[in-house]
Amino acid sequence: MKKIIKSDQEWKTQLSEKAYNILRKNGTERAFTSDNFPKLSGVYSCVGCGAELFNSNAKFDSGSGWPSFFQPIEANVVEESIDKSLMMTRTEAHCVRCEGHLGHIFPDGPAPTGLRYCINGGALSFKEVKEN
Ligand code: FE
Repeated sequence: MKKIIKSDQEWKTQLSEKAYNILRKNGTERAFTSDNFPKLSGVYSCVGCGAELFNSNAKFDSGSGWPSFFQPIEANVVEESIDKSLMMTRTEAHCVRCEGHLGHIFPDGPAPTGLRYCINGGALSFKEVKEN
C-alpha cells in the first residue's frame, strides 16, 4: 500500500482538533463521547487518509464506550505496535496508509478472533452501505 506522508502542520490544518489529537498525538477520546456508533451496515474509514479500516459486520457492543471491532476489514490495513505509555504495556493500532493512531487492541474480544479493536470514533468516518 502506498503510504501517505504529511508534515505535522499539514495534518493540523487538514484535521479537526479532535481527530488531530487522536491520529497524530496518540490521544484517546473520552468514553461515550463518540457520535460514531450507527447501528447501520457500512464501512468505517480512516478520517486522516480515507483508507477503509473496518466493516460494520465485525462491530460489536463492548460496553466500553468506544467503537469496538473483532477484526479489520482486511489484514493489512491496520498495523500493531507496542505502546508503553501510561505505565502500561498495550498493543496500539494504527492505520497502515497514514500511520495515524486509531486505538488499542485487547485480547478479550468475541469469536472468531478473540480480539477487541478498541477504536476512537473520532479517528473514523462512517459510510452506510445499503444491503439488497
Ligand atoms: Fe489513515
